[in-house]
Amino acid sequence: MRVTFLGSGTSGGVPVINCSCSVCRSLNPKNKRLRSSILIETGGVTILIDTSPDLRQQLLRRPVERLDAVLYTHAHADHIFGLDELRRFNYLQKERIPAYANQSTAQTLRSIFHYAFQPGALKPGVPNLSLKIIDGVFDIGGVKIIPLPLLHGDQEILGFRIGKFAYCTDVSRIPEASFKLLQGLDILALDALREKPHPTHFSLEQALEQAARIKAKKTWFTHISHILDEDRHGQNLPDGYAFAYDGLELETMNNE
Ligand SMILES: [Zn+2]
Ligand SMILES: [Zn+2]
Ligand SMILES: [Zn+2]
Repeated sequence: MRVTFLGSGTSGGVPVINCSCSVCRSLNPKNKRLRSSILIETGGVTILIDTSPDLRQQLLRRPVERLDAVLYTHAHADHIFGLDELRRFNYLQKERIPAYANQSTAQTLRSIFHYAFQPGALKPGVPNLSLKIIDGVFDIGGVKIIPLPLLHGDQEILGFRIGKFAYCTDVSRIPEASFKLLQGLDILALDALREKPHPTHFSLEQALEQAARIKAKKTWFTHISHILDEDRHGQNLPDGYAFAYDGLELETMNNE
């Protein structure tokens, strides 16, 4: 199984528009972060998690031949506003693409992108998706997906576990039941926004505490803001922890 970080930045990306801080001016390419999204390739299927506003640029940088499904963590703008770019895959694949989301995310997607979920024959010029409501473990072409309920402020959103990899972005609290689903991981991707606490995201310190409890072999922090510097913070993390970066590709086994 291959996991590719298409984007590792928070909602405004890094650099931030009109910001002259040292991270936004940094020449280190790892300090350039598009909005958070990952790609999973395993067992002959390609799965995209979230459609960030940077999706077009992300897929020009990291070409993908086909998309078998899109999984949505939640419906915040930085995770959904690239949805229209999926049109290209309808055109190439001549088929509707399934989009998986929990009930509340599905409702928001349907209200914003009503034109993308019309039943019937494929329509040109618009995305053609079929919305699938997640209500437990499911599979995509034989690849088992375990949804992980997470709290993002007081909103319940989803992380996903596939084999020994789990993706937990936009989280400020992990419910006890989800900790149980996070045992025995090789790789964990976990939200770490900034140094100071935030109402809807883990700070770096909180993320380190949670990751120490989950005990994945390696934890990559993501959804990073311009407050965190790869050179100043990322290089000083304890062994087993690192900041993800755009273009990072990881290989892991898809077995449990
Ligand atoms: Zn976000
Ligand atoms: Zn900045
Ligand atoms: Zn969010």
